[in-house]
Amino acid sequence: MLRRCLAGGLALVYPADEGAYSEEGERSVWLMRLRDAALTDELLREIPKAELHIHIEGSLEPQMMFEIAARNGVRLRYGSVREVREAYDFADLQTFLDLYYEGTRVLLHERDFYELTFAYLQKATSQGVRHAEIFFDPQAHTDRGVAFETAITGIHRALLDGQRRLGVSSHLILCFLRHLSADEAAETMRRALPYKGQIVGVGLDSSEVGHPPEGFKAVFEEAARHGFHRVAHAGEEGPPEYIRQALDELGAERIDHGVRCVEDPGLVRRLRDEQVPLTVCPLSNVRLRVFPSVEEHPVKRMLGEGLCVTVNSDDPAYFGGYVADNYCAVRDGLGFAREDFRAVAENSFRASFLGEGEKKELLEVLASYFET
Ligand SMILES: [Zn+2]
Repeated sequence: MLRRCLAGGLALVYPADEGAYSEEGERSVWLMRLRDAALTDELLREIPKAELHIHIEGSLEPQMMFEIAARNGVRLRYGSVREVREAYDFADLQTFLDLYYEGTRVLLHERDFYELTFAYLQKATSQGVRHAEIFFDPQAHTDRGVAFETAITGIHRALLDGQRRLGVSSHLILCFLRHLSADEAAETMRRALPYKGQIVGVGLDSSEVGHPPEGFKAVFEEAARHGFHRVAHAGEEGPPEYIRQALDELGAERIDHGVRCVEDPGLVRRLRDEQVPLTVCPLSNVRLRVFPSVEEHPVKRMLGEGLCVTVNSDDPAYFGGYVADNYCAVRDGLGFAREDFRAVAENSFRASFLGEGEKKELLEVLASYFET
């Protein structure tokens, strides 16, 4: 019978009997056992980590979707939680997006956005997340008549409470929907400016194929002029060329997904040489049929190539797991070892938009987790 606690970021495992933990020597013995322990689900959850690829609207669990729908009098296409879950058999990115946008229709009031965001933060912190960089899709709301202010105020209030009550830091990234026009993206940028202090960067998401990054060059330049960081989804379903465009035309500092880079050795070399962070989401890629199984996912190979890989959840309510569930999946499917997990967790902090001091602190917590 083992009992577990976290002390200063260090996981200790020791017998439930307090007497057995009375000497420093005993502590060392148990720490030694931890070092040699198998990578259990619990240990993977406890690794201090950042999550850099999570769409807050994609963390809307079916249960919450129905609760908020009932509260707001919104009629859903689905009759029950079970029916929604059955619809999770996606053929591709577009079939997922159809359900994703259906779900967002229930979000009408600031309280809805608050509850959605705080629920994600609770779940994420239970999986070791110390810092989250969260995407939101304002156009998915403003196009339905929900004010930009309603969405961002609810989300921001939850992020502040997450810091205060859960000890998780966070940043918010505004994503432009690439299936809509560049003019609409520019309009969204204008609406965001009064909330500049609450947004760390801009991104690009939604239907990738047929909507190359270069179409959004002007709005990304505008975002850069206002001091926003820039990221973009590229190379998920779209070709490696979209990754190059995201880097060269949009000035993207991180690539979200980027997994199709493996088809282009020259691009892999560039991503390695420039250490461009890639926010990889294995369960999402399998659920959306980018790869047939986790076993066939290239993330371990990418890490082996020296790429700056992080592991994330994407839309956890829809894709079968939160960030640590993705860690478990790559352990089971690809044999990720202790040093692989250490590398992706280190990368997650390094690739974040935290200040250097904050990064250093979190990297020290991580090092003590692995080394002490
Ligand atoms: Zn995504």
